Order: sequence, then C-alpha cells, then structure tokens
Amino acid sequence: MKYDVVIIGGGLGGLQCGYILSREGYNVCLLEKNSQLGGCLQTFRRNNSIFDTGMHYIGSMDEGQVLNNFFRYFGLSGKLNLKKMDENCYDIVKYKDKEYNFAMGHERFIETMLGYFPNEKEALYKYTSKLKEITESVDLFNLRESTYHQTGYLDFFSIGIDEFINSTTKDETLKSVLLGLSPLYAGVKEKSPLYLPMIIHSSFINSAYRFIDGGSQISEILSKNITENGGTIMRKAEVTQFIFDSGKIKAVKINNSEIIEGDTFISNIHPKTLLKIAGNAPLRPAYKSRIDSIEETTGAFTLYLSMKKDAFEYINSNYYVFKTDKVWEAQNYSREKWPMGYMMHFSPSSGNEKYTSSIIANTYMRWEDVVPWKNTTVEKRGDDYREFKRVKAEKLLSVIETDFPGITAKTESYYTSTPLTYRDYIGSPTGSFYGILKDYRDPLRSMVMPRTTIPNLLLTGQNINVHGVIGVTICSVLTCSEIIGTQYLISKMRKA
Ligand SMILES: Cc1cc2nc3c(=O)[nH]c(=O)nc-3n(C[C@H](O)[C@H](O)[C@H](O)COP(=O)(O)OP(=O)(O)OC[C@H]3O[C@@H](n4cnc5c(N)ncnc54)[C@H](O)[C@@H]3O)c2cc1C
Repeated sequence: MKYDVVIIGGGLGGLQCGYILSREGYNVCLLEKNSQLGGCLQTFRRNNSIFDTGMHYIGSMDEGQVLNNFFRYFGLSGKLNLKKMDENCYDIVKYKDKEYNFAMGHERFIETMLGYFPNEKEALYKYTSKLKEITESVDLFNLRESTYHQTGYLDFFSIGIDEFINSTTKDETLKSVLLGLSPLYAGVKEKSPLYLPMIIHSSFINSAYRFIDGGSQISEILSKNITENGGTIMRKAEVTQFIFDSGKIKAVKINNSEIIEGDTFISNIHPKTLLKIAGNAPLRPAYKSRIDSIEETTGAFTLYLSMKKDAFEYINSNYYVFKTDKVWEAQNYSREKWPMGYMMHFSPSSGNEKYTSSIIANTYMRWEDVVPWKNTTVEKRGDDYREFKRVKAEKLLSVIETDFPGITAKTESYYTSTPLTYRDYIGSPTGSFYGILKDYRDPLRSMVMPRTTIPNLLLTGQNINVHGVIGVTICSVLTCSEIIGTQYLISKMRKA
C-alpha cells in the first residue's frame, strides 16, 4: 500500500504532524520504533509510581493562551488531566542555599523578585519587556501566519542570553538567579541564544501545569485521534533504510524487511540519525557535513524515586538547585565535583493529592561518562554499568538529602537513566537532553529547516526548531504548512 505521507518517528512532533495531515484528509502512516509512542513523552510505571521521562511541565495552558489554542485544534483541550502549579512559585531556583521563587504573571514575577532584589526594578522590567518583545516577534506563538522568510525573531538567535543578562543588571546574584533556569535548555554560556530561554520562560510565566498520572496522555489522545481520522500507526516499526528513486524517496524499509511506500516523508527523528539511516541520500555533501558537525546539548542522569506510601508531601513547584556559585559551570563538573546541581520534579497522582509517589531528579551527565558502554543495548550493559549507575544514584541522592532532609528514608526504591538510555529509546546520537545545541555566534549553522533538498522529505521535531512542547508544536505547524499552506492551517487553528 502507498501512503500520501509517511512519518518516521512517533514523538510529539511526528504525532502532531500525523494529526494535522490526517485531519486534512491525507492518508498518513506513522512509524515508531518503540512499542510506546511519544518519544520523550513516554512514561513508565514502577510499584505504584508513574514516571515521566521527558515532559515534566507545560506552559501557557490557561484559556486563551498559546498552547491551549494549539491543543484545542489537536483535540487535546479538556481531555488532559492537568494540575496547575503554584502561581507564587511554580519554579524555585536555589542558589547559594537561598530559595528564589518564580511566580506566574509578569507583574507578580517582578513583585516577587523585588522582594529579594529591591534595587533591581529597572533590570526586572527590562527582562520582562524582552520576554514580551521576543514572544510578540514569533508569528506562530501568536497564531499569525508565518514562513521562514518573515521572521523578526531570528534577530534574537544572534544575541547571547549571558550577554543580555549582563547588560540588564550588575547584581551578580540576580544574574545567577535569572540564569538558574538554564537546565531547561542545557545552556552554555558562550553559545546559548537569547531566544531560547526567553521563549521557554515566557511560556511558563503565562501559566505552568503538570500532568496528573503522566504526560503520555498526550500521545495516547493524539494517536487515537489520528486513527479516528483514518491514519495508520505502526509501533515496533523501526525505519532501517531509505529507498530512493530519481532523487526522491520512494519508500522506507522497516525492521530490515517490510517496505512502506509514500509520496511525502516527514522525519521526526534526529537529523544525524536520519543521515545515518539514509546513508546514500541525494543530499548536498555540504549539508550532510554541516548536520554531522552540529554540537549536541549535554545529556542527563535521571534519578526516579518511588516514594513510600503517604511519606513525602507533594510539592507543587519545581526546584533548580545549584551546588556551585557559577550557574553556567554546572555541566562542566569534574568527576569529584559531580553533581553541581539538579532539577527536581514532583509528580501529582489522581489517587493521592497530599502525597507524591514519584519524584524525578535530573542532573547533567556528559556523553563521555558513558562511552565505555556505548556498544551495549538496554538491559544488556553489564554489571559494571549497573555499579556505575548505583554509585551515581547514591551520590546524587546524598546531595538531594541536604536540601530535602529525610527524603532517602522516605524512598521505597529508585531507578536511573543515563544518556545511553535516551540514545537507545529516542534514537538521538549521544542521548542529549534537548537535541541540537543552538549557537548564537553562528545561528544559521545550528538551525535546520523543515525543507530539505530532497523534494519529498520534510523534517520536524525539537532539532528543527526549539525543544519542548511549544517549540515542537510550532515546528509541526511549520512542517505541515509546507504541504497544506500556512495561511490555510493557521486559519483552521484559529477557528478551532
Ligand atoms: C529529561 C527531559 C526533560 C524534559 N522536560 C520537559 C518539560 O518539562 N517540558 C517540555 O516542554 N519539554 C521537556 N523536555 C523536552 C521535550 O520532551 C522534547 O523537546 C520533545 O518531547 C521532543 O519531541 P520530538 O517530537 O522532537 O522528538 P522525540 O521525543 O525525540 O521523538 C522521536 C521519536 O522518533 C522515534 N524514532 C527514532 N528513530 C526511529 C527510527 N529509525 N524509526 C522509527 N522511529 C524512530 C523515537 O523512538 C521517538 O519516539 C524534556 C526533555 C528531556 C530529555
């Protein structure tokens, strides 16, 4: 059977493209290598704890806000089981042992921060004005028509966040606190563009929500909607080869056997992985070498704590804790000085509002730390890898204990993941946190467009635009606009 559109990868981006195009009457086939759809939206259950692997909170979900508008179009509105986070402190940065609350709403954010930094009114207004200016510049953030040719926001890709923060205030503590959200984009001082943290902070300052019982709700609803629209979803269908004919893709091979033909192909997988699979792709050598040479964001070590029943009270905030005075240094740890910080998320569950059964702590882990096991696969990495993870887990837990005394005793059991886990589940080359590292000094090099020089191949997902639910959603719209037209799609979304 030949499909109108074949989508490779069932992460958020692939599912959203599948939904848009199947809703528009295209005969869509989505191919996902894992048994569970969703990519980073995957959840897993241990004991009575449900753990999110890559989606801990989402922003701008209040009525009339951008994600809410998008989600209404995707048939997700009103169907997700969400919990609004604490409006006074949805995020808390702990720096030099002092906690700084990030509040929802621009005015409340300023007021709260003025409580800590009474002389920094001008700096805080400058910061929030920039948040507004940048979000206003992104057409799709405001559901305006957009093409890559009318993009005022590109200017903000060529300024560094560090440079901007330095120009905003001389107060070193305020600088560190504002940069304390850098784990949300695995920020690098010399590289991270202003655009990235601003779009992310902007989406959360509007409103922040957690998933009750896990974020895989999104992939479950989207996949159901795609099937109802007549689309086909194949799980355990790993694309292993591309078949080309006259400069175009004719078909893909799944699991080295079955052939799936299509007119148009959308890749939701990491571009480097795509190039590896499509080794003989008729793409320009310069394009291939540019993609291959783009740097990746640092990976993560994650500790999943399954808590004893009714032992640890649910906290409706995320923590960004630093064990160094230099927030940018957190990923430049030495073996002895690891971890230099962590972020903590507490999962709400439908069965128990007062206590949490799942706590997730993420800290940086570089690819080089797990290189000794790079030729292994899930569950078959050997005893030395298990011991490596145990030592890391105990070390991280002992650091967390200093901030949350008693947490170890309240923990029933724990589970861990490393960059290798992400490499093998998601298919990114080095199991990075958020895919490609954006570099403001050479923005075009680290930007990958949806269109490729293969006329029937489009790209989508976090590596093409910005990571996170907003970045990936905007990219899905950009990618599908290449097929059905921006004006048409946006007007449909506006009316949804
Ligand atoms: C630890 C962590 C925490 C995060 N927290 C948040 C958060 O709180 N809020 C937020 O908004 N964002 C968060 N993110 C980012 C967010 O999860 C991602 O940006 C987003 O989910 C990426 O979606 P995607 O569609 O680009 O790709 P992915 O999720 O990477 O999906 C790619 C899919 O392609 C499949 N695939 C790969 N190769 C093949 C193949 N050969 N054949 C078939 N299928 C294939 C994979 O199995 C996967 O399902 C977090 C990420 C991480 C890692």
